[in-house]
Amino acid sequence: MKEYDYIVVGGGSGGIASANRAGMYGAKVLLIEANKIGGTCVNVGCVPKKVMWQASTMLETIERDAPSYGVQAAVEKFDFNELVARREKYIDFLHGAYYRGLDSNHVERIEGYATFKSDHVVTVNGEEYTAPHILIATGGRPSQMKIPGGELAIDSNGFFELTEQPKEVVVLGAGYIAAELSGVLQGMGTQVHWAFRYDHPLRTFDKMITENLVEIYRDNHMKLYDHHVAKEIKQNADGTYTVYFENGNTLSGDKVLFAGGRLPNTDKLGLENTSVTLNEKGFVIVDKFQNTTSDGVYSVGDVIGKIDLTPVAIAAGRRLSERVFNGKSEEFLDYENVPTVIFTHPTIATIGISEEEAIARHGKEQIKVYRSRFTPMYFALSDYRQKCEMKLVCLGEEEKIIGLHAIGVGVDEMLQGFAVAIKMGATKKDFDDTVAIHPTGSEEFVTMR
Ligand SMILES: Cc1cc2nc3c(=O)[nH]c(=O)nc-3n(C[C@H](O)[C@H](O)[C@H](O)COP(=O)(O)OP(=O)(O)OC[C@H]3O[C@@H](n4cnc5c(N)ncnc54)[C@H](O)[C@@H]3O)c2cc1C
Repeated sequence: MKEYDYIVVGGGSGGIASANRAGMYGAKVLLIEANKIGGTCVNVGCVPKKVMWQASTMLETIERDAPSYGVQAAVEKFDFNELVARREKYIDFLHGAYYRGLDSNHVERIEGYATFKSDHVVTVNGEEYTAPHILIATGGRPSQMKIPGGELAIDSNGFFELTEQPKEVVVLGAGYIAAELSGVLQGMGTQVHWAFRYDHPLRTFDKMITENLVEIYRDNHMKLYDHHVAKEIKQNADGTYTVYFENGNTLSGDKVLFAGGRLPNTDKLGLENTSVTLNEKGFVIVDKFQNTTSDGVYSVGDVIGKIDLTPVAIAAGRRLSERVFNGKSEEFLDYENVPTVIFTHPTIATIGISEEEAIARHGKEQIKVYRSRFTPMYFALSDYRQKCEMKLVCLGEEEKIIGLHAIGVGVDEMLQGFAVAIKMGATKKDFDDTVAIHPTGSEEFVTMR
């Protein structure tokens, strides 16, 4: 049996980051990956999504916004297939960069599916490997629709397999992936029908965000359907699909995209042979140091079901290796105040808690909210006057900022700096004391009354 200091199961964002950091400190590390290196983010998540978002934004700029600046340009041809081919080439380049990074930290790699034989023994391709420290960083996968014909819908992985642009798509789901992919397709000229179960999408976000998103998507000719619960999908004779809803409505398109949540990759790992405990949804239970219930077995990333974001998986993985292989015994990731951007059209930026949650936690009298709604200068010359809206949620007399939310052009690139301030405990007065940058959208955050 081959012995290592550290075995990392899963070569995605969290696994690679942790393996590299441990390797940097001289640990003998083995990384096991069943599919393509880089995991969800690189292959079927952040990276291809952002490429598609950028292409979609570019088309919107040319077709919708350029004429207001006197630029008369027409898109002669949009070659979806070429975009996908270039995107995949870029992803191949990233695979190479990951391999080089792992090599330079002397991390050994195996391609194959790992299963646990016992707490400290994993089996891959019929061989056994052991280590005193093992990381479970196996991520998640899209959940499937459990209705008749549910298998006819594509999921986010299927979206990235498309080589032809669909003309009309029915999107099912209310989360950020549904919101993003709906916007990408609509911006590219696909007619999108976005249906979701309750009265609004993105229900865990501040209500201001979802209200603006719904309004802006409708202004841009997307069709949105609330209180729509799919009960069946059928393929029609012409190859298109029809979704039948519980309320009697039907929607048809040449593709149905289901983005209804993600499941942890724990079911085939052999964890029943270990003392690792899962919660009722199958996510690995960890403490604040990423320790599982089995000594020397750790877990980070989407498989723990806390905050499904690449930088979170990376930060947790690196801190873990700092603790285990660099003697920083108190190192752990604080999951509070993690900034998030959603690549909708326009983008959404959020950190901290929503106004609704702040009131529920602290009481209405403790919370003061500042808002600003304006037309960004980008649209100043246009008949189409898309709004940007921002909100600060402040707590107590000192008005500590516990929530910052925005939707509008460019808010994605505004958030990181504000996130530093909020992580440091910024108050409304700190924002007021900061001189604005003019003319920008971000100046609104430091000039709210
Ligand atoms: C459509 C989409 C868009 C997203 N956009 C963003 C974004 O814009 N920004 C952002 O921060 N996050 C985004 N995310 C989330 C982000 O991709 C994940 O949070 C991140 O990839 C989690 O990293 P991880 O290491 O936990 O898991 P993963 O990256 O999923 O890696 C897990 C790896 O483990 C491997 N594996 C599983 N089981 C085994 C096994 N038994 N043996 C060997 N290998 C195994 C898998 O093949 C996989 O490669 C997006 C996700 C999706 C689906």
